[in-house]
Amino acid sequence: MAEPLGAVDEDKVLFIKNLTVAFGGFKAVDDLSLSIDKNELRVIIGPNGAGKTTLLDMICGRTRPTSGEIWFEGREVSRLPEHKIVQAGIGRKFQNPSVYEDLSVFENFEISIPRGQTACGSLAFRRDQEVRERIRAVAGDVFLEEHLDRKAAILSHGQKQWLEIGMLLIQEPRLLMLDEPVAGMSPREREQTAELLKRIAHGKSIVVIEHDMNFVKSIANKVTVLHQGRLLSEGTTEMVQRDPRVIDVYLGH
Ligand code: ADP
Ligand code: MG
Repeated sequence: MAEPLGAVDEDKVLFIKNLTVAFGGFKAVDDLSLSIDKNELRVIIGPNGAGKTTLLDMICGRTRPTSGEIWFEGREVSRLPEHKIVQAGIGRKFQNPSVYEDLSVFENFEISIPRGQTACGSLAFRRDQEVRERIRAVAGDVFLEEHLDRKAAILSHGQKQWLEIGMLLIQEPRLLMLDEPVAGMSPREREQTAELLKRIAHGKSIVVIEHDMNFVKSIANKVTVLHQGRLLSEGTTEMVQRDPRVIDVYLGH
């Protein structure tokens, strides 16, 4: 696969080249290259310890790569600090929902609006209106319109996951990365989340780490399979489900 450098290819939102991170002598991600298209919804699967979370940690600046490159929209971001990567347009959701339990759903959204965009000075009133409208729109996107005044603490686990997705959406990232977003959700909540992700994928790129193959099948444009920090297989859900190497190390278990 001869890939051009990230700066060159307009269709690629994310371009990763020969990425490696070693913890001591152990390579959690090992010479990994992959790219994500604009408007793509990519799912990453693979056994526990395959390096999926570590990959997201490197893309969002939490873990420094030992070697290799990460390009976002034609700009190298491999060595930027975490907040610069957020500002560049990459949002990332961790495995466990981290919402402010004591605040209302509305307030959780409000504090997630990037600084510099909140109300100040004589424009305060108009901005207030805008903020409220934006929060209401995002709340609708994540099935929480009716819960804006409730404390986050009383939401179900699935609703907290949605709230956190909404808190990312309100920052309008162009690449959104979600680590096992449906873990602990009911079947109905999983269906709703699939619908939600497909709906918001228009105009942005999404990377989802997931285990539930029915869920994967319902959302993925393309699936990347990681194993021992390396790319094991990549293609449509049907292709990777039929791949004997994937069956051997992952799906057959
Ligand atoms: P996955 O998300 O695919 O289950 P992870 O990316 O969490 O896998 O972990 C990949 C491997 O890297 C695991 O063996 C894990 O123990 C190891 N690892 C992850 N982070 C660190 C770290 N900070 N220090 C040492 N080892 C780590
Ligand atoms: Mg993980």
